[in-house]
Amino acid sequence: MSREDELVQNLEGIQARINAACEAAGRDPSEVTLVAVSKTKPVADIQALYDAGHRDFGENYVQEWQDKAEFLPNDIRWHFIGVLQSNKCKYLAGNVHLIHSIYRRKQLKELSKRLDEPQKILVQINTGNDLAKGGIEPEELEEFLETAAEFPEVQVAGIMTIPPFDEPIETTQGHFRTMKSLAQGHPDWTVSMGMTSDFEAAIAEGATIIRVGTAIFGARNYQ
Ligand SMILES: *Cc1c(COP(=O)(O)O)cnc(C)c1O
Repeated sequence: MSREDELVQNLEGIQARINAACEAAGRDPSEVTLVAVSKTKPVADIQALYDAGHRDFGENYVQEWQDKAEFLPNDIRWHFIGVLQSNKCKYLAGNVHLIHSIYRRKQLKELSKRLDEPQKILVQINTGNDLAKGGIEPEELEEFLETAAEFPEVQVAGIMTIPPFDEPIETTQGHFRTMKSLAQGHPDWTVSMGMTSDFEAAIAEGATIIRVGTAIFGARNYQ
């Protein structure tokens, strides 16, 4: 099988699992957007999925995203999901569909300086109280929303989490449930959670974006 066919088959396999998870949860599959996480993967892989009709892709590193986007169609909806240093915010402002990893005032400030139309962002929540991960504590969300309101160009569209990797699925699902309760009262919010190993649990708890890399592109090789 060609690499292109393999990628499209993987994508279709994930879509079938999304449909099944939605059915089990009594949800409509159209409520869940699959972001194909393409970090470390070549432009040709992204192009193959684009040609099959996929439009939502996720990248973690500003430089890598810029290097690839240059060679790809400009109607791709780019999702920035990586750690974002505030001095790199200027490259993303107005150029990506959604930034998932905002949790500092400095990031809001740097983005707003560069914006002449609204930029959608998600607030990253550290549901696992994990020192190795970014994000605010769930209890800090209300205060952060007040801070974000100082920057009207930056539009809070929802919340995102990356739970700790080494926990049993029941614990992970508990983190997703925390996200669900944080989103209560915000029916229009995007809730970005769930990756290769846990996206079905995320869908069960109300995820509206799942971010899947390995199950579509295969394992990553970091140099
Ligand atoms: C890499 C990454 C993913 C994709 O992870 P997989 O386990 O390969 O599906 C999702 N979200 C974030 C924030 C990532 O950094």
